[in-house]
Amino acid sequence: MEITITKTKVLKPKPDDSKLGFGSIFTDHMLNVDYEPEKGWHNPRIEPYAPFEMDPATMVLHYGQAVFEGLKAYRTASGSVQLFRAKDNFTRLNQSSRSLCIPEIDEAFLMDSLKQLLEIEKDWIPKAPGTSLYVRPTIIATDPYLGVRASNTYRYFVILSPVGAYYAAGFNPVKIWVTKSHVRAVRGGVGEAKTPANYAASLYAGEQATKSGYAQVLWLDGVEQKYIEEVGSMNIFFVIDDEITTPMLNGSILPGITRNSVLALAKHWGMKVSERKITIDEVMQAHESGKLQEIFGSGTAAVISPVGEMKYGDKVITVSDGKVGPIANKLFKTIQDIQYGKAEDPMSWIE
Ligand code: PMP
Repeated sequence: MEITITKTKVLKPKPDDSKLGFGSIFTDHMLNVDYEPEKGWHNPRIEPYAPFEMDPATMVLHYGQAVFEGLKAYRTASGSVQLFRAKDNFTRLNQSSRSLCIPEIDEAFLMDSLKQLLEIEKDWIPKAPGTSLYVRPTIIATDPYLGVRASNTYRYFVILSPVGAYYAAGFNPVKIWVTKSHVRAVRGGVGEAKTPANYAASLYAGEQATKSGYAQVLWLDGVEQKYIEEVGSMNIFFVIDDEITTPMLNGSILPGITRNSVLALAKHWGMKVSERKITIDEVMQAHESGKLQEIFGSGTAAVISPVGEMKYGDKVITVSDGKVGPIANKLFKTIQDIQYGKAEDPMSWIE
């Protein structure tokens, strides 16, 4: 598909790299592609970033039929631009689409169109350490219709947002709160898809955690509230007795690309690694017997988020003496160095 390009007449002022936050500044252009049953995905165009005009009955506004992705473009020391495992994000976008009855898009087109958009917007990729250009590909259901069914028409769009270093105040551990009263996703539901419903379902418990002074919610399974699933909007890892372990993918856990990278690197380093069911009781017992060495989250935004404290019921445990553990530290540094082109890329993750 040939992409039509319409450039904006007035460029926006670029923000100061050292003052960037997350997700509130957007670049000059965006990509839009439409889907209709007779035409398939068609009319790809890069055009000035602009609001959508939508019928108030547009299906996505009522029933949340949508999927999205989150990835980053990084500027290397030599000034070049690189993507980290972007192919995997597009594969996951299509996997999410299948769960939500949304027509898939050719992955080579997704990659090529993103590269064309990034070429036009390359001056927006910040240079300060730890900063990047966040990429948000999204698909929404666009039929103006109030019946509950899958839409016939869709819009794919990509917007870009320069973002600051996640650890602007230093690579520090967070406090997490285990909830038994709320679940994020259930097996047979849409937990493994990157779809708005999962994020809407996480808000209430997230607010409760924040009010109690905790940064993230640790989610247990939706059936027995016994097995650990994720933390906030990250995957979770435990180091118990020198083994790195993470909950196995079960349909209600998002298959994180950083999760996969952590597993691959740890195996590459010859560490003991497992993906299995882990109960919250096992983690509490491992702590009591002195075998719980580290807990950390993994995700595109933070790369690695070490956990220094965890509250479960009326018990509060301190992990890694409230400091960043050595494995979290090594993973963080290695993955970040690969992303910014400062280290070799043993798994060919960069393009
Ligand atoms: N779980 C959830 C619910 C998420 O939103 C994310 C962020 N995409 C992750 C895990 C981590 O996934 P990734 O490593 O691909 O960013």
